[in-house]
Amino acid sequence: MTTEDKFKKNELLANHTTLRIGGPAKYFFEAKEKKELIEALKWAKENSVPYFILGGGSNLLVSDKGFDGLVIKVRSEKLKVKSEGSKYIVEVEAGVPLIKIILETTKAGYSGAEWGYGIPGTIGGAICGNAGRLGQDISQVIESVIILDENLAEKELNKEDCRFTYRESVFKKNGWIILSATLVLKKKEQKLIDDILDEAKKVVKGYPPFPSAGCAFKNYEIKNNNGQLPKEHPELESQIRGGKIGTGYLIDACGLKQKQIGGAKIWEGHANYIINTGNARAEDVISLIDICKKSVKEKFGIELEEEIRLLGF
Ligand SMILES: Cc1cc2nc3c(=O)[nH]c(=O)nc-3n(C[C@H](O)[C@H](O)[C@H](O)COP(=O)(O)OP(=O)(O)OC[C@H]3O[C@@H](n4cnc5c(N)ncnc54)[C@H](O)[C@@H]3O)c2cc1C
Repeated sequence: MTTEDKFKKNELLANHTTLRIGGPAKYFFEAKEKKELIEALKWAKENSVPYFILGGGSNLLVSDKGFDGLVIKVRSEKLKVKSEGSKYIVEVEAGVPLIKIILETTKAGYSGAEWGYGIPGTIGGAICGNAGRLGQDISQVIESVIILDENLAEKELNKEDCRFTYRESVFKKNGWIILSATLVLKKKEQKLIDDILDEAKKVVKGYPPFPSAGCAFKNYEIKNNNGQLPKEHPELESQIRGGKIGTGYLIDACGLKQKQIGGAKIWEGHANYIINTGNARAEDVISLIDICKKSVKEKFGIELEEEIRLLGF
């Protein structure tokens, strides 16, 4: 069997994204082992076929045309833990669901990931986008990450090499592929862990009851504007949390809650979610993204930046 024979053809990507939108991938492959992943990547390089690395598809908008290349869904699932004094060392492959790590570590009484309870997707996707909430993010538990670089050479990066900032990492910029990571969590009183877990569960209860890709935009970091608020909008002062203004507030202030285009809608529960009410097309979502960006720029002079990743546009 050739490498290409192992790929599915014209696999509908809507079935692999939480937004339930997206046309077909010309080639689609689920890689459970590193060997298979490298074989598929080599094939793509040798045949000049563009490739895309997919985790849980929970931060992704795929175009209605789909992707004219190879989508590799990372399904590597090994997870090893060991305790060393008050530390818990977790060695985890990129395809492991984030929730599995959270359940494993909180049950054992270790803290560092409990804030992420209910964030869908894989640890690979979480590291790439430095997933976070409740003022915390995944970078805080990362010790090292093993990657494949653009020449498919395997390298180990320490945390500094990963250049984590708010929802950003080196991987988002250069496309390096995360194979596995070592996380370090710390022993904590169970009650304190459970308190954060409860807060996270409250956030989950507030998720939209429709398909989405999480928050469409990053929140606005005041430091991007030299620490200044737009002069004409002193009312924004009271909206600052942890140096940021919630984009949901900004979109809502533009009167856009419940704005609907085709099957896509700005969710009434939280204006930073674009939901698929049933038959949304990617272009409906893009139209709403454009309207939000334009309106927030006009009203507040603030440039919104997408948090969701785009594929096939
Ligand atoms: C209801 C809902 C709630 C959410 N809440 C939150 C939240 O509170 N906080 C938050 O931060 N996010 C949230 N998200 C967004 C999303 O779940 C996270 O960003 C998640 O970490 C993405 O992981 P994934 O595996 O699904 O990545 P995908 O969507 O599959 O991919 C996202 C990006 O990561 C890249 N990637 C994936 N795996 C790898 C890898 N192994 N190597 C290199 N690159 C890779 C992809 O190429 C892509 O660019 C939410 C989403 C939903 C649907």
